Amino acid sequence: MRIKVLGCSGGVGPGLRTTGLLVDDEILIDAGTGVGDLSLAQMGRISDVLLTHSHLDHVCGLAFMADNLFGLIERPLHVHATRETVSALQEHLFNWKLWPDFTMLPDAEHPLMIFHTLQPAVPAALGRIKVTPFEVLHTVPAVGYLIDSGEGVFAFSGDTYADDRLWHFLNQQPRLDRLMIEIAFPDEDAELGRISKHFTPSLLGQELNKLRHRPKLFLTHHKPGTERAIEQQCLSALAGWDYSHLKRGDIILS
Ligand SMILES: [Zn+2]
Ligand SMILES: [Zn+2]
Repeated sequence: MRIKVLGCSGGVGPGLRTTGLLVDDEILIDAGTGVGDLSLAQMGRISDVLLTHSHLDHVCGLAFMADNLFGLIERPLHVHATRETVSALQEHLFNWKLWPDFTMLPDAEHPLMIFHTLQPAVPAALGRIKVTPFEVLHTVPAVGYLIDSGEGVFAFSGDTYADDRLWHFLNQQPRLDRLMIEIAFPDEDAELGRISKHFTPSLLGQELNKLRHRPKLFLTHHKPGTERAIEQQCLSALAGWDYSHLKRGDIILS
């Protein structure tokens, strides 16, 4: 399985894109602004989109991608998310006010986009990979995804905060080779992290003591301007862990 990082920033700026992971050119996990760097042909190859939660930095690319794909693809684009996230998108984004409802276009029998509801902790097969959503703590209902390619097990936390459910789920897995997890703020913004439900380096370092696996860590979602501070703080907070700060364009093999 080949995971290409289309975006991994907590915001936008020169060279920065928000969250999007392209798996084997066909599955998109979160649809942040990195989607805008894909060609029409690359967008047309995507069959399934998995969303962690409804926040704009994770879904805005879906709106523009659907628009681009209109008239371009023969089969529908399958969008998978929890019931709460699907409802939020239908009510607040694809509602004919912010954007057209592409589940009704060009007509209800042949829609461009189809929503599928995922249940936390229930695996779903997408081609040859197995995907299991797991609940995480954020300001809106949110999940991460465990992805088993048959050769390796990769987990992506999505946006999350300290929560024993996360570690309990991961500890139940027989193996965990790679974990992509967020750190949005430096330690001095711990209170902001608590309110907005995002990790800081020290808090993640403490929470990782609850994990029985020893995966390679990929750190993501640093807010623009905080990258250097977070990198400095991780040197001590994550001492002993094998980790890297994700960059747009990185490839993860799993
Ligand atoms: Zn969020
Ligand atoms: Zn986010």
